[in-house]
Amino acid sequence: MSKKRLLALTLAGMMATSVLAGCGGQKTTTPDATNPDASTDQPSADSGAVDYSDITIGSCIYKFDDTFMTNVRNAMTEAAGTLGCKVDLVDSQNKQPEQNNQVDTFITKGVSALAINAVDRTAAGPLVEKAKAESLPIVFLNREPEADVMQSYDKIWYVGAKAEESGTMSGEIIVDYWKAHPEMDRNGDGKLQYIMITGEPGHQDATLRTEYSVKAITDAGIQVEELGNDTAMWDKVKATDLVTSLLAAKGVERVEAILCNNDDMALGAIEALKAAGYNKGDAAMYTPVVGVDATDAALQAMSEGTLLGTVLNDAVNQGTATVNIAAAAAAGQEITKDTIGYEVTDGKYVWIPYVKVTVDNYKDYIK
Ligand code: BGC
Ligand code: CA
Repeated sequence: MSKKRLLALTLAGMMATSVLAGCGGQKTTTPDATNPDASTDQPSADSGAVDYSDITIGSCIYKFDDTFMTNVRNAMTEAAGTLGCKVDLVDSQNKQPEQNNQVDTFITKGVSALAINAVDRTAAGPLVEKAKAESLPIVFLNREPEADVMQSYDKIWYVGAKAEESGTMSGEIIVDYWKAHPEMDRNGDGKLQYIMITGEPGHQDATLRTEYSVKAITDAGIQVEELGNDTAMWDKVKATDLVTSLLAAKGVERVEAILCNNDDMALGAIEALKAAGYNKGDAAMYTPVVGVDATDAALQAMSEGTLLGTVLNDAVNQGTATVNIAAAAAAGQEITKDTIGYEVTDGKYVWIPYVKVTVDNYKDYIK
């Protein structure tokens, strides 16, 4: 068992017995084996145990068939188990009208709080109106509603991660590699020729990761030339197809890096490279690829040397924070670090940090 896993289990045990409002605090994901206390950040106040056993959180996930959201779902189920409340998770099958109906059904069933991973984040308003009419707490996650919607109700929260941060980190991984490996400039023109594979248009993570990854590269003084930029909708198979055609159109040898908004698409890009004879162990035929999420499959690809790096998108803490907020709000508690175990910004936002994952630390994240 990795040190990180051991630490997480120890913390889970501590949190399960914590009387702090019954809530699990921030789980460590930045392992510091030499000083475990430094990363636990346990809340210290004691407001007495709260009984959550009557609470059911109704949760819609944009689609179940999404690797990252599956990890978040698992974390939500585990967090509900720790608190002793229930979470009813449903698959919105990537259809906003379906999700709207699911919310109506949850309200009819009498859930105590809603946790919503919107299909279309710009369509959050009507869901908030439904929650408001029933005075139900509503927590959005992963897909951020617009600011005016966030301000339209006092029982609304958002749990996510600052997409800019992940963009910057993935760009920095490319910068470090470029500096250490002059041969990465295959055509020797001093510019980085790259392909960008983006997530779903309109998703804040797609827009900002794209922008900030390139910004990190140009901020480091490296000139760039974009050979291709298209969406593969967060999906591995779509990315395989897209990158296969881009490599054929641009010439595989001209592509000096592939930047992907998530790991599933990075793994798809690697499939396409392999089919073109690249990233199979020959150092002269290696194209650096970066992703975001640090999924199990991505860490495996890093251990095989096919994926250069990724960024941990912390599903465990995002899922746990969502459930902690929904349960605490349903129990009538104020949402503060003391009640939910996570820092709360502007009374409404919980931001979970990203972590850069490179060849130096990826092993710490393997479960
Ligand atoms: C993740 C993607 C995921 C998307 C779903 C992003 O934060 O990085 O892997 O598909 O969220 O909304
Ligand atoms: Ca070049």
